[in-house]
Amino acid sequence: MLHEDRLFASDPTQRAIARRLYAQVGTLPIISPHGHTDPAWFAKNEAFPDPATLFVVPDHYIYRMLYSQGVRLEDLGIPRKDGAAVETDSRTIWRRFAVHWHLFRGTPTRLWLEHALETVFDVTERLSPATADRIYDQIDERLRRPEYRPRALFERFNIEVIATTESPLDPLEHHKAIRESGWTGRVVTAFRPDPVVDPEFEGFRANVERLGALTGEDTATWAGYLAALANRRRYFMEFGATSTDHGHPTAATADLSRAEAEALFAKALRGDASPAEAELFRGQMLTEMARMSLEDGLVMQIHPGSMRNHNPVVFERFGRDKGADIPSQTEYVRALKPLLDRVGNERDLTIILFTLDETSYSRELAPLAGHYPALRLGPSWWFHDSPEGMRRFREMVTETAGFYNTVGFNDDTRAFCSIPARHNVARRIDCGFLARLVAEHRLDEDEAADLAVDLAYTLAKKAYKL
Ligand SMILES: [Zn+2]
Repeated sequence: MLHEDRLFASDPTQRAIARRLYAQVGTLPIISPHGHTDPAWFAKNEAFPDPATLFVVPDHYIYRMLYSQGVRLEDLGIPRKDGAAVETDSRTIWRRFAVHWHLFRGTPTRLWLEHALETVFDVTERLSPATADRIYDQIDERLRRPEYRPRALFERFNIEVIATTESPLDPLEHHKAIRESGWTGRVVTAFRPDPVVDPEFEGFRANVERLGALTGEDTATWAGYLAALANRRRYFMEFGATSTDHGHPTAATADLSRAEAEALFAKALRGDASPAEAELFRGQMLTEMARMSLEDGLVMQIHPGSMRNHNPVVFERFGRDKGADIPSQTEYVRALKPLLDRVGNERDLTIILFTLDETSYSRELAPLAGHYPALRLGPSWWFHDSPEGMRRFREMVTETAGFYNTVGFNDDTRAFCSIPARHNVARRIDCGFLARLVAEHRLDEDEAADLAVDLAYTLAKKAYKL
C-alpha cells in the first residue's frame, strides 16, 4: 500500500532531490512535543484490547466523517454520558468502519491508517468489507503479543520523547508510575490550564476550588489563585513538563490592572461573567501565564480558533472532543497586542502560535513571528495537518518568518499507532518543499540537507527545550 515515493513531487528532478533529503531524516528519532496520548498506556503497559478500541473508538477524525454520512456514534461504540447502551462488539464496529472506508479517500486519515496497518501490523491489503474480518483478525492476533504492548511500540516507533497533556487538577499519577517503574521511555506532561482559567469551562468554579484544595492556597482570592497556578506549574515540571498549552476560542489577550483583574476574577467565580467578560478573563490569564513562564521557563503554546462543542446534541449525549469542534476566523494582530506589549521582546520566552485560520499565516502570523523575539509558529494543525496543509504552511510563512521561526512538527494526536505515520508525512512534505527550492536554485542542496534535519528533529527539540 505504501509507495516509497509517496508525497514527493512527480517531477523527476524534484523527486530525486527529495529522495536524497528524505534518506537522511526518515529514520531520525521522533520528538513529539505536543499530543494527547494517554499516560496510563505507558504506566500500566497493558495490551491494547482490540482493533476497534485501538483505531476507531478514540479517534474523532474517524468517527466525525462517519457521523457526517449518517452513522450513529452509538453504533461505533462511543460511550454516552447517560450510560445508554452503545455497540460493544469490537468486530461489529470494525466492520461498520470498513464499509465506510471509501469516505477517507484522499484524506490524511487514510494515509495514517494505511501506514500504521502496514508498518505496525504487516497488513498489505486495502481495507474493505471483503477484507475487514481478515485484517481484524491479523491486528487482534498481533495485539496479544508482548511486542505490541505500549512500551514496546514506543521503543519500536523510535520515540525519543513524547509529551502528554494534562489539566492542573490531574494528580499525574500515571506519570509518577512511569517514573517509578524504572522504564527509560521519556514521557513528559504538559500543563493545560483551560479548566481553571476559562470561566465558560464546565465546572469552572468547582475546578478552581479543587485547585485550592490541591495546593493549599486560598483560590477564592486573586493572589491565592495565581499562587496555586504557579504551584501546579512547578509540580508539572517535576514530571518533565517543559510547556503549557492554551486552547482558547480566540487569541484575545489582556493586560489589566491588578484591581481590574481581581474584580473580574471575583465576578467569574460568582458565575456572573458575561461572555465578553469571560473572554477578557481568558485573555488576562494568557498574560499571567506568560509572566509565569518568564519565571519558570515553560514554553507557551496558544491553540486558538476552535469553536468547541458546536453541536449541542452531540455535546449533551457524548461530551467534549467528539469531532464537533469547528474552526473559526481568528485575528491575531490586535488580539495579541496586550500580551506582546508586555513580553513580546523577551528573548528568554517562547510563545508558539497555532491557527485553524490559514488566512492569518501570511497576513498576520508570519509577520508577527518574523519580528517578535518571543514568538514562534507552530506547524499546521488539526484540520490542516495534511500534506496540502503542510505545503500551504511552508508556502505562506517562509517568505516572512523563514524556517527558524517555526518549531518542527507536532503530531497532536491521541491515536498512538498513527504517530510514526504523521511524522513520516511531515518529513516527506518538508523534504519535498526543500527539494523544490533546490531545483529552482534558491537553496543549495547541502543547506537543504541541514534544514531537513532541523525541521524533522532539531527545531522541535530546541523550541520545546526537550
Ligand atoms: Zn493538542
